[in-house]
Amino acid sequence: MIDPGHGGKDPGAIGRTGLREKDVVLDISRRIREKLSRSGEFDVRMTRDEDVFIPLEERTAMANKARVDIFVSLHINASRNRKAEGFSTYVLSRGASNREDLELAARENGVPVAKLQGVKFIIDDMFTGARKNESLRLAKTVNDSVVRNVSTRYPGAQSIGLKQAPFYVLVGARMTAVLVEASFISNSREEARLRESPYLDGIADGVAEAVRFYGQNGILAHSEY
Ligand SMILES: [Zn+2]
Repeated sequence: MIDPGHGGKDPGAIGRTGLREKDVVLDISRRIREKLSRSGEFDVRMTRDEDVFIPLEERTAMANKARVDIFVSLHINASRNRKAEGFSTYVLSRGASNREDLELAARENGVPVAKLQGVKFIIDDMFTGARKNESLRLAKTVNDSVVRNVSTRYPGAQSIGLKQAPFYVLVGARMTAVLVEASFISNSREEARLRESPYLDGIADGVAEAVRFYGQNGILAHSEY
Protein backbone atom coordinates (compact mmCIF):
# COMPACT_ATOMS: atom_id res chain seq x y z
CA MET A 1 0.00 0.00 0.00
CA ILE A 2 1.28 3.41 -0.98
CA ASP A 3 0.39 6.22 1.40
CA PRO A 4 0.65 9.74 -0.05
CA GLY A 5 1.12 11.91 3.06
CA HIS A 6 -1.24 14.73 4.08
CA GLY A 7 -4.13 15.84 1.83
CA GLY A 8 -7.24 18.03 2.00
CA LYS A 9 -7.01 20.59 4.81
CA ASP A 10 -3.45 19.43 5.56
CA PRO A 11 -1.09 20.64 2.81
CA GLY A 12 2.07 19.26 4.47
CA ALA A 13 5.20 21.32 3.94
CA ILE A 14 5.04 24.23 1.48
CA GLY A 15 7.95 25.46 -0.62
CA ARG A 16 8.94 29.05 -1.19
CA THR A 17 7.32 29.06 -4.62
CA GLY A 18 4.14 27.56 -3.22
CA LEU A 19 4.63 23.91 -4.12
CA ARG A 20 2.68 21.76 -1.66
CA GLU A 21 3.91 18.44 -0.25
CA LYS A 22 0.42 16.89 -0.46
CA ASP A 23 0.27 17.43 -4.23
CA VAL A 24 3.80 16.19 -4.94
CA VAL A 25 3.45 12.97 -2.95
CA LEU A 26 0.12 12.15 -4.61
CA ASP A 27 1.73 12.62 -8.02
CA ILE A 28 4.68 10.37 -7.12
CA SER A 29 2.39 7.74 -5.57
CA ARG A 30 0.31 7.51 -8.74
CA ARG A 31 3.50 7.00 -10.73
CA ILE A 32 4.60 4.19 -8.38
CA ARG A 33 1.22 2.52 -8.69
CA GLU A 34 1.37 2.76 -12.46
CA LYS A 35 4.84 1.22 -12.61
CA LEU A 36 4.07 -1.64 -10.22
CA SER A 37 0.62 -2.44 -11.62
CA ARG A 38 1.77 -2.54 -15.23
CA SER A 39 3.19 -6.06 -15.03
CA GLY A 40 0.24 -7.39 -13.06
CA GLU A 41 2.73 -8.56 -10.47
CA PHE A 42 1.43 -6.41 -7.66
CA ASP A 43 -1.95 -5.42 -6.35
CA VAL A 44 -1.17 -1.81 -5.47
CA ARG A 45 -3.51 0.13 -3.20
CA MET A 46 -3.35 3.76 -2.16
CA THR A 47 -4.64 5.28 1.07
CA ARG A 48 -5.85 8.24 -0.98
CA ASP A 49 -6.12 8.93 -4.69
CA GLU A 50 -7.44 12.46 -4.40
CA ASP A 51 -6.94 15.60 -2.38
CA VAL A 52 -8.66 14.45 0.81
CA PHE A 53 -7.72 14.51 4.49
CA ILE A 54 -7.24 11.11 6.11
CA PRO A 55 -6.26 10.85 9.80
CA LEU A 56 -2.91 9.12 10.35
CA GLU A 57 -4.28 6.15 12.30
CA GLU A 58 -6.79 5.42 9.53
CA ARG A 59 -4.00 4.97 7.04
CA THR A 60 -2.41 1.97 8.73
CA ALA A 61 -5.87 0.66 9.63
CA MET A 62 -6.61 0.60 5.91
CA ALA A 63 -3.38 -1.30 5.25
CA ASN A 64 -4.10 -3.81 8.03
CA LYS A 65 -7.62 -4.36 6.77
CA ALA A 66 -6.44 -4.90 3.21
CA ARG A 67 -3.76 -7.28 4.54
CA VAL A 68 -1.10 -5.79 2.33
CA ASP A 69 2.51 -6.96 2.64
CA ILE A 70 4.17 -3.57 2.46
CA PHE A 71 3.24 -0.05 3.60
CA VAL A 72 5.18 2.84 2.08
CA SER A 73 4.31 6.32 3.34
CA LEU A 74 5.55 9.05 1.04
CA HIS A 75 6.60 12.52 2.21
CA ILE A 76 8.75 15.50 1.29
CA ASN A 77 11.09 16.89 3.92
CA ALA A 78 11.44 20.50 5.07
CA SER A 79 14.03 22.18 7.24
CA ARG A 80 14.80 25.61 8.62
CA ASN A 81 18.22 25.03 7.12
CA ARG A 82 17.58 25.99 3.51
CA LYS A 83 20.65 24.09 2.41
CA ALA A 84 19.39 20.75 3.71
CA GLU A 85 18.88 18.36 0.81
CA GLY A 86 18.60 14.72 -0.17
CA PHE A 87 16.69 11.53 0.49
CA SER A 88 16.10 9.60 3.68
CA THR A 89 13.92 6.62 4.56
CA TYR A 90 12.63 5.97 8.05
CA VAL A 91 11.34 3.10 10.11
CA LEU A 92 9.39 3.48 13.31
CA SER A 93 11.16 3.82 16.63
CA ARG A 94 10.29 5.15 20.07
CA GLY A 95 12.66 8.05 19.88
CA ALA A 96 14.70 10.06 17.41
CA SER A 97 18.47 10.11 17.40
CA ASN A 98 18.69 13.88 17.00
CA ARG A 99 16.74 17.11 17.26
CA GLU A 100 16.15 17.39 13.52
CA ASP A 101 14.50 13.98 13.30
CA LEU A 102 12.37 14.78 16.32
CA GLU A 103 11.23 18.05 14.74
CA LEU A 104 10.51 16.24 11.49
CA ALA A 105 8.43 13.56 13.21
CA ALA A 106 6.56 16.22 15.18
CA ARG A 107 5.74 18.12 12.01
CA GLU A 108 4.64 14.99 10.16
CA ASN A 109 2.59 13.94 13.19
CA GLY A 110 1.00 17.37 13.47
CA VAL A 111 1.98 17.78 17.13
CA PRO A 112 4.42 20.04 19.00
CA VAL A 113 7.88 18.63 19.68
CA ALA A 114 7.24 18.80 23.43
CA LYS A 115 4.34 16.40 23.11
CA LEU A 116 6.45 13.89 21.25
CA GLN A 117 9.24 14.12 23.80
CA GLY A 118 7.09 13.88 26.89
CA VAL A 119 4.77 11.08 25.98
CA LYS A 120 5.78 7.50 26.47
CA PHE A 121 5.41 6.32 22.94
CA ILE A 122 3.31 3.22 22.59
CA ILE A 123 4.46 1.01 19.82
CA ASP A 124 2.59 -2.10 18.86
CA ASP A 125 4.37 -5.16 20.25
CA MET A 126 4.24 -6.63 16.81
CA PHE A 127 6.67 -4.05 15.54
CA THR A 128 9.70 -5.77 16.96
CA GLY A 129 12.01 -8.56 15.88
CA ALA A 130 11.41 -9.87 12.38
CA ARG A 131 9.00 -7.14 11.36
CA LYS A 132 11.33 -4.38 12.40
CA ASN A 133 14.25 -6.08 10.67
CA GLU A 134 12.22 -6.47 7.49
CA SER A 135 11.28 -2.80 7.66
CA LEU A 136 14.90 -1.78 8.13
CA ARG A 137 15.82 -3.91 5.15
CA LEU A 138 13.12 -2.48 2.93
CA ALA A 139 13.97 1.07 4.05
CA LYS A 140 17.60 0.62 3.06
CA THR A 141 16.62 -0.92 -0.27
CA VAL A 142 14.17 1.91 -0.99
CA ASN A 143 16.61 4.65 -0.09
CA ASP A 144 19.49 3.20 -2.11
CA SER A 145 17.23 2.56 -5.07
CA VAL A 146 15.65 6.04 -5.06
CA VAL A 147 19.03 7.76 -4.88
CA ARG A 148 20.42 5.54 -7.63
CA ASN A 149 17.47 6.15 -9.95
CA VAL A 150 17.36 9.89 -9.38
CA SER A 151 21.16 10.17 -9.74
CA THR A 152 21.11 8.82 -13.28
CA ARG A 153 19.07 11.87 -14.31
CA TYR A 154 20.23 14.33 -11.67
CA PRO A 155 23.88 13.68 -10.82
CA GLY A 156 24.83 14.49 -7.27
CA ALA A 157 21.51 13.55 -5.63
CA GLN A 158 22.29 13.20 -1.94
CA SER A 159 21.53 10.26 0.31
CA ILE A 160 20.94 10.98 3.97
CA GLY A 161 20.27 7.29 4.46
CA LEU A 162 18.33 5.00 6.70
CA LYS A 163 16.89 6.56 9.86
CA GLN A 164 14.49 5.95 12.72
CA ALA A 165 11.94 8.25 14.34
CA PRO A 166 8.52 8.15 16.06
CA PHE A 167 6.14 8.64 13.15
CA TYR A 168 2.51 8.15 14.18
CA VAL A 169 1.52 6.98 10.70
CA LEU A 170 3.69 3.87 11.10
CA VAL A 171 2.32 2.94 14.53
CA GLY A 172 -0.01 -0.03 14.36
CA ALA A 173 1.09 -1.23 10.93
CA ARG A 174 1.11 -5.02 11.03
CA MET A 175 3.34 -5.31 7.99
CA THR A 176 6.73 -4.14 6.76
CA ALA A 177 6.39 -0.36 6.94
CA VAL A 178 8.64 2.52 5.90
CA LEU A 179 8.36 6.27 5.43
CA VAL A 180 10.23 8.02 2.63
CA GLU A 181 11.28 11.67 2.82
CA ALA A 182 11.99 12.34 -0.84
CA SER A 183 13.93 15.64 -1.02
CA PHE A 184 13.50 18.94 0.78
CA ILE A 185 10.77 21.27 -0.40
CA SER A 186 12.56 23.96 1.66
CA ASN A 187 15.62 23.71 -0.60
CA SER A 188 15.00 25.89 -3.67
CA ARG A 189 16.88 23.60 -6.05
CA GLU A 190 15.01 20.52 -4.88
CA GLU A 191 11.69 22.37 -4.87
CA ALA A 192 12.28 23.26 -8.54
CA ARG A 193 13.15 19.64 -9.32
CA LEU A 194 9.99 18.41 -7.59
CA ARG A 195 8.08 20.18 -10.37
CA GLU A 196 9.95 18.20 -13.05
CA SER A 197 8.48 14.98 -14.35
CA PRO A 198 11.84 13.13 -14.83
CA TYR A 199 12.69 13.83 -11.17
CA LEU A 200 9.35 12.51 -9.93
CA ASP A 201 9.74 9.50 -12.22
CA GLY A 202 13.21 8.84 -10.81
CA ILE A 203 11.78 8.74 -7.28
CA ALA A 204 8.87 6.54 -8.38
CA ASP A 205 11.17 4.19 -10.31
CA GLY A 206 13.36 3.92 -7.23
CA VAL A 207 10.50 2.93 -4.94
CA ALA A 208 9.01 0.54 -7.53
CA GLU A 209 12.37 -1.15 -8.12
CA ALA A 210 12.92 -1.59 -4.38
CA VAL A 211 9.48 -3.14 -3.88
CA ARG A 212 10.12 -5.49 -6.80
CA PHE A 213 13.51 -6.48 -5.39
CA TYR A 214 12.04 -7.01 -1.97
CA GLY A 215 9.25 -9.18 -3.41
CA GLN A 216 11.57 -11.23 -5.60
CA ASN A 217 13.80 -12.10 -2.71
CA GLY A 218 11.10 -14.20 -1.20
CA ILE A 219 10.34 -11.98 1.73
CA LEU A 220 6.71 -11.49 0.76
CA ALA A 221 6.27 -15.26 0.69
CA HIS A 222 7.08 -15.33 4.40
CA SER A 223 4.23 -13.00 5.21
CA GLU A 224 2.02 -14.35 7.97
CA TYR A 225 -1.07 -13.21 6.12
ZN1 LIG B 1 4.86 14.91 5.24
